Amino acid sequence: MTTLLHHYIDGQLVTGNSQRFADVRDPATGEISARVPLANAVELQAAVAAAKVAFPGWSATPPLRRARILSRFKELLEQNGERLAEIITAEHGKVHSDAMGEVVRGLEVVEFACGGPHLLKGEVSENIGSSIDSHSLRQPLGVVAGITPFNFPAMVALWMFPVALACGNTFVLKPSERDPSAALFLAQLLQEAGLPAGVFNVVNGDKEVVDAILVHPDIQAVSFVGSTPIARHIYATGAANGKRVQALGGAKNHMVVMPDADLDKTADALMGAAYGAAGERCMAISIAVAVGDSTADALIERLAPRVKSLRIGPGTDPQAEMGPLITREHRDRVRSYVDIGVEEGASLVVDGREFRMQRPGFENGFYLGGSLFDRVTPEMPIYQDEIFGPVLGVVRVKNYKEAVDLINAHQYANGTAIFTRDGDSARMFAHEIQVGMVGINVPIPVPMAFHSFGGWKNSLFGDHHMHGPEGVRFYTRLKTVTSRWMSGIRNGADFVMPTMK
Ligand code: NAD
Repeated sequence: MTTLLHHYIDGQLVTGNSQRFADVRDPATGEISARVPLANAVELQAAVAAAKVAFPGWSATPPLRRARILSRFKELLEQNGERLAEIITAEHGKVHSDAMGEVVRGLEVVEFACGGPHLLKGEVSENIGSSIDSHSLRQPLGVVAGITPFNFPAMVALWMFPVALACGNTFVLKPSERDPSAALFLAQLLQEAGLPAGVFNVVNGDKEVVDAILVHPDIQAVSFVGSTPIARHIYATGAANGKRVQALGGAKNHMVVMPDADLDKTADALMGAAYGAAGERCMAISIAVAVGDSTADALIERLAPRVKSLRIGPGTDPQAEMGPLITREHRDRVRSYVDIGVEEGASLVVDGREFRMQRPGFENGFYLGGSLFDRVTPEMPIYQDEIFGPVLGVVRVKNYKEAVDLINAHQYANGTAIFTRDGDSARMFAHEIQVGMVGINVPIPVPMAFHSFGGWKNSLFGDHHMHGPEGVRFYTRLKTVTSRWMSGIRNGADFVMPTMK
């Protein structure tokens, strides 16, 4: 059955009138499950207008009252977590337990945002001069927009809007057109939580509506997560139109495996980090950097049988470790990277290309087996490019320094990890690696909600990471007030630059 999806504008589900639609598919079966309307600038305008009207009331609502609505939203998310995870699995394809993990990591940002009254506290200096005080405060920006990728249809939106709303902004969310239903479900829960109409809106669409967001004069800031070429476009165009922008891009995350690492635990960590969510995570490890040939040999020996026996199935199967990829085109693109790796001379230890799903009803799903390459070298496209699929490459290096130099030369710098038993190597690594998020014996170092998430170099354009203290800074403007009472200007005008008296 094909459902017709809507936009959510000013507290109402709204039918699209652009006459453009995209198919939403269940990646497990390959079948069309819904049609999503693709908004144009007129529909965007309705959402921005509603958010603009809602802004004065919402920003004037005491932060504690805003936090209470978010707290009620958090309870509803907890009660409806399983349902949200089912929605994610149905359109994204990831296994249900992983979808639940996504819900929990998103929910933690709501918990963080419930501390809004505390987070918005400013600073005070008494007596910056005789009888003069100064205080700073953070005020909301106005209407802000979020544009999210397919791979975390709930969590990435939850990185953004709870913090934005806690700070007093109103929000327009443009989810990925490939799995838009999670965003609409979140809108429904916000409404049930008592959020006033217009404060949160969902506009579905593709490039057309994104480009309209980037030039809309009433949108003050844009948060984006997606691939690097689009992130760069969002940052350049948004900034050229006077907006504050944080644009998180793609990744190629390396894990350094030192000779002294516990290789059984390292192999465990790599299996989850490389093949979990079929490699469609911006923090997935796609390159293992083995220090020394004997480390590489021992690692491959442990990984190969496990990659061969990965349990692949629909995300609804509780036994499945890895679900399908998002679309047929993406699956074929990932498969073509395995072809390229073979042509370029990397050694293909496990070949996932020939995997065929045999289960009745799922034969047309977008499945691909896990692949494992050894002897990947830095000039190969399978090393340079983000593949975003279940393909792990092992690069062999002679020593620690070579591993660090390799990582620091890469264009992407989202996450990285080192597995070692040596505290000194770990400490040096954390200090000198040019990457935004670092794990020490932790394969996927996604910061908790009360810290901030973001990479460096081509993995992030803009100045602010997401959620945590950086999120509060992004969604607020700093104002500093200097005040003098008592004698003040009654003494007469002063034409000299103010200095401390
Ligand atoms: P994408 O860049 O194709 O799409 C992201 C968003 O941009 C979607 O909402 C999409 O509709 C919109 N978009 C797509 N093409 C556009 C265009 N030409 N102009 C304007 N807007 C456009 O990314 P995706 O395939 O949905 O997601 C996967 C990518 O996201 C990967 O590169 C992954 O690394 C990245 N990602 C990064 C992070 C991070 O935190 N750095 C987190 C999750 C995903």
